[in-house]
Amino acid sequence: MKFFFPDSHDLVDPSFDFQTETRSEHRIRHRNDQYAHELFEQPPYSGMLVSKAIVDGTEKGAGKYTVAQRHRLLRQGVREFFRIGDRPLETMGDCGAFSYVREEYPPYSVEEVIDFYLDCQIDYGVSVDHVILAFQSDEAAATEAGQAALAGYRQRQAITLDLAREFLALHKRRKLPFTPLGVAQGWSPASYAAAVRDLQKMGYSYIGVGGLVPLQSADILASLKAIDKVRRVKTGLHLFGVNRCEHLDEFRDFGVVSFDSTSPLLQAFKHDRDNYYTESCKYSAIRVPQVEGNAKLGNRIRAGEINQEAARKLELACLKALTRFDEQGGSVPQLLKLLRDYDLLHDGRKDRSEDYGRTLQDRPWATCPCQVCRDLGIHVVIFRGAERNRRRGFHNLYVTYHHFHKSV
Ligand SMILES: [Zn+2]
Repeated sequence: MKFFFPDSHDLVDPSFDFQTETRSEHRIRHRNDQYAHELFEQPPYSGMLVSKAIVDGTEKGAGKYTVAQRHRLLRQGVREFFRIGDRPLETMGDCGAFSYVREEYPPYSVEEVIDFYLDCQIDYGVSVDHVILAFQSDEAAATEAGQAALAGYRQRQAITLDLAREFLALHKRRKLPFTPLGVAQGWSPASYAAAVRDLQKMGYSYIGVGGLVPLQSADILASLKAIDKVRRVKTGLHLFGVNRCEHLDEFRDFGVVSFDSTSPLLQAFKHDRDNYYTESCKYSAIRVPQVEGNAKLGNRIRAGEINQEAARKLELACLKALTRFDEQGGSVPQLLKLLRDYDLLHDGRKDRSEDYGRTLQDRPWATCPCQVCRDLGIHVVIFRGAERNRRRGFHNLYVTYHHFHKSV
């Protein structure tokens, strides 16, 4: 199963020194910083997914492109822009349909999207689609209330299918160089199956199943089972925006050949406890935030509740003790006590000692063969600053990729 990683400008600075927390003064961010596929000997994903909404800047939040970056991407194409070189990475383009989910109609024309794919020189182009933000079981859809909600959903599905038809027609007429993916949008297992049947009739044999992000895995599974009844043998499915990759193993029997997900990266620093992946389980990263730049701590220091000097001392003591523990071993309970003392200053809402104890006891970083863990040692499980947190995300990409790559 191929794993496509959606780009949102996730880079790390190779000059960052984890002991001194300093960088090279000669660092030029856009030239020297590295993507995950540059940091590892082998890329930790099968391909990259580039969304028009992100590149155009219509997507709010992280990963935005500057005007200059956008122009460079469209001029150079994805392989040169992301410095892919001859690495075995494929590239996929889509519209980023979640960014316009509130609009009545997708804001891009098919022509416009095709031009974007041609400029980017991607390998797989996804048809223009419109997300349906709802899910009903087939039983609920048959009720009166279910029927009333259907009009809006039906319209969005019809828009998506019309645009897929237009996309494929233009693809054939202009003999475009990329492989087309038709998108199936639905609101129930039966409606997803109907969309896939229509797309196959149009001529698609690679079909992306959209709108799955908010769904429970049981609903996704029910939809895939329904799709499987109409799916032709040669039709492969792509799952867009998978939240929890651990359920993907159940999906492979239903023709899923690829998926994309940002979860492995984001969980490294957004999840409450599952921050560091291994093949068998997930571990909590150990929070040692900087005194400087920590808003909550700053407020307490200004209010005179905490002495800044004392906080800084405790912060450094935690870092030092963790590094020493990695090099020489030592008492886990003693280390946990120190971490808890600092935690009571910077957060204190929750005693994380049990989770931290598991991480320290098992030392998963010491046995991980990935480049990040070999280079960073215990720093990979320290929840602190973008350089550590993002690298932990890269490690999670590596674990995810190898899991699916191996079990093909
Ligand atoms: Zn690792």
